[in-house]
Amino acid sequence: MSTATEPIRGGQPSIPETLPEKHRETLPLGPLKNIHVFWMAGMSCDGCTITVAGATNPGVEGLLNGTVPAMPKMLLHHPVLSVEAGAEFMQSFRDAWERKLEDPYVVVFEGSVPDERIAARTGGYWSAMGSEVVGEGSEGEGRLVPTTEWLSRLAPGAAATIAIGTCATWGGVPAAEGNPTGAMSVMDFLGKDYRSAFGLPVINIPGCAPQGDNFTETVFAILLFLQGLGPLPAFDELGRPSWLYGETVHRGCTRAGYYEEGVFTHEYGGAECLVEIGCWGPVVNCNIVKRGAINHMGGCMEAGGVCIACTMPGFPDKFSPFYKAPPGGIVSTATSRSVGGVIRRLRRLSNRHANRERRWDVNNDVPSGWAHLPKQNLGLTVMEFFYQKWQLWGARKPGRRPGEEERFWGATRPGKPSDYHDTSVSEGK
Ligand code: SF4
Ligand code: SF4
Repeated sequence: MSTATEPIRGGQPSIPETLPEKHRETLPLGPLKNIHVFWMAGMSCDGCTITVAGATNPGVEGLLNGTVPAMPKMLLHHPVLSVEAGAEFMQSFRDAWERKLEDPYVVVFEGSVPDERIAARTGGYWSAMGSEVVGEGSEGEGRLVPTTEWLSRLAPGAAATIAIGTCATWGGVPAAEGNPTGAMSVMDFLGKDYRSAFGLPVINIPGCAPQGDNFTETVFAILLFLQGLGPLPAFDELGRPSWLYGETVHRGCTRAGYYEEGVFTHEYGGAECLVEIGCWGPVVNCNIVKRGAINHMGGCMEAGGVCIACTMPGFPDKFSPFYKAPPGGIVSTATSRSVGGVIRRLRRLSNRHANRERRWDVNNDVPSGWAHLPKQNLGLTVMEFFYQKWQLWGARKPGRRPGEEERFWGATRPGKPSDYHDTSVSEGK
């Protein structure tokens, strides 16, 4: 539960109005000098705040300082990061609700949206921010304002509403089987017909926690649009930035080559593909292995961990228990084992061939002091001969034609480097 530090003047919170208010307006296109960002936290662990604070490409500092060319300055109202507290902090939220702000605003919601009606039955609340007095004069009664209510107040007038993290985008862990708080996503709460003041449905940046740059990059793209300097970024049917979530983890995974060749590890941190110990990467939309967890470093598989599908709407129920291999993986891993096993062996031969200079092939000797490399056997030589014939089929063989010049002078490997130059010159004879 989260609250701002504003004093409460007694009384129990009343049952909040959970439906978003119907109010539309049209905002002017840019250039905008400032833009407010109202960050709210529902059923949240604040992990999304941490990940965004750590974003580097782009980072948020430039926006907060107003130093990014063509971008408006971001005026952030954040329950944890803002300097203001209590009534002073909440005043900007009230101004936005009452449409008193001079500049447009964006709503960012972190954490899932609880059903406050459940908590109100016992006189409590799940998540609240600020308090207010209901009623006139001495009859007035103080109450905490559920974050859910702030969302329904501010979302209709926002230039854009962005749900960050899997709790806000799809309900996440708080909405898992059982769901005592009635937790739901921002999209579930605002409904299908919700549009921001600029006509945008909810924008979703999933992940638990999401990759921070995915959020900042999307915000930059939206701001360019609001500035009138760029097109509306492409979003998929679930409101995810399609250029960030269009591919599966597996396609960008550094271990995908092992999967293809049918090599699987059976312990966390192993070097090979992790699918047999529970990786869901082949069916999960996420770019963390391509982008890294932070500053292009890390990411689940890079750190030796399996993908538990934290970016997906079905998370966590459809992917648990996390320690078990996905049943669907059995078919593909069995195929990879049989087909990939053959391919792997053939590639090993080609790899060995590619690891030799042409000179070594001709001399059939590798002058390495690191190891004794055996001479090539006849079978392999014949195979490589036909392989090269196939490779050069219809093409001109590189280099000079045979007979025009002796390519490897002396034919056999000379004994020492001085055999390659006239030592009488260097020794002044
Ligand atoms: S570790 Fe997961 S994402 Fe990576 S190759 Fe294996 S199955 Fe695919
Ligand atoms: S790889 Fe899987 S577990 Fe890791 S961030 Fe992406 S979706 Fe979540």
